[in-house]
Amino acid sequence: MRIVIAGGGVIGCSIAWHVQKAGGEAILLERGEIAGEATGASAGMLIAPIEDTGNRAFNVLRRASLEMFPALIEEIEEASGIDVEYKKPGMIRTARSQKAARQLHKAAKNNPELEWVEPRALRELEPSLTRDIAGATFSEGDADLNPGRLANAFAVAAERAGAEVLRRTMFTGVKKDGRRIDGVVTNTGTVSDIDAIVLAAGPWTEALTTRLGARLPSPAMRGQMIAYRSKSLRHAIWGEDGYLVPKPRGYVWAGATVEDVGFRKKTTARGLAGLRRMAGDLVPRLRKAKVASSWAGLRPGSPDGLPVIGRFPGKQNVFLATGHFRNGVLLAPITGALVADLVLNGRTDRRLSPFSPMRFCR
Ligand SMILES: Cc1cc2nc3c(=O)[nH]c(=O)nc-3n(C[C@H](O)[C@H](O)[C@H](O)COP(=O)(O)OP(=O)(O)OC[C@H]3O[C@@H](n4cnc5c(N)ncnc54)[C@H](O)[C@@H]3O)c2cc1C
Repeated sequence: MRIVIAGGGVIGCSIAWHVQKAGGEAILLERGEIAGEATGASAGMLIAPIEDTGNRAFNVLRRASLEMFPALIEEIEEASGIDVEYKKPGMIRTARSQKAARQLHKAAKNNPELEWVEPRALRELEPSLTRDIAGATFSEGDADLNPGRLANAFAVAAERAGAEVLRRTMFTGVKKDGRRIDGVVTNTGTVSDIDAIVLAAGPWTEALTTRLGARLPSPAMRGQMIAYRSKSLRHAIWGEDGYLVPKPRGYVWAGATVEDVGFRKKTTARGLAGLRRMAGDLVPRLRKAKVASSWAGLRPGSPDGLPVIGRFPGKQNVFLATGHFRNGVLLAPITGALVADLVLNGRTDRRLSPFSPMRFCR
């Protein structure tokens, strides 16, 4: 089966790899470079769903995806020859106020993955952390990786297995509209005799859906980040206003803002000042560290903040995979595997049902 995937972020690339691996023929269209948008801007943290987000189905999906990583990384690094810089530094969750500390303490009591850390032990665990902390927990299950490398590893592995990866190729429409679509139009030509299309174009997916006759909102949610030149951290730190992640080659990344400002991708003085304040409050040494770079990306949102994965309304062979918002890197393995199964075998895994696009079409 020939499957066109529009969008070469981590979601589209994972789908392409999983389609190819399952015996399909993936044709991946990316209008720019692989991982050139939200994926390349991401912090790449794989955070275990231990906090109560209030949505059980979402936590089940996140947990299942997190558990896929170790085996998948091995497979994808071997198949692509790309090191995705996967590591498990563990995460320290911190609370500055007594109220937040009580909540963390309660969470640690109820969750075996969270270990409550006394102040003296905290100083040994992460010496450069501020002393102004009312409470902290440690969890060793949290991992992180380089998301741009992960997306490229999926794309290269898919390509080596026979997929077509068309970079600088933009999906512009379909050949002949109807309930079933058998060809797509791009800025460089047409792709004919296809069996299905998956729209995985991040926040630009909405524009593509309107071309297919049903508008499914995928708002862009800007996130700004800073990279410090610093070796001051051993673990990822989660604070009440943001997070810090140690990265290879002597960097610490600080993130991230969450802003609903449409497709404006530039960093702002205000956004970066907020991140610097947060970083300096958590690790005072960072106040003097050199800022190596800063950037922003547009996360794909959705009206209820949850992923939008499944069949496109009114079309037999069009599918959607977007709306991953703050968890797209974490959710890439499960999204790729379950969308490939849906598209190639027509099976909707029950874990996907709560995320069907149909929930916006009533
Ligand atoms: C600052 C920041 C920090 C983040 N941190 C984390 C984190 O720690 N952990 C985590 O799990 N997630 C994180 N995220 C979220 C994560 O990055 C996203 O959820 C994920 O990258 C979304 O992937 P995607 O493939 O859906 O979208 P994108 O990466 O945006 O990819 C969509 C692609 O589609 C292409 N495209 C658009 N229109 C067309 C067209 N017509 N034809 C062809 N191609 C097209 C675009 O060029 C783009 O490359 C973060 C995001 C940001 C911005």
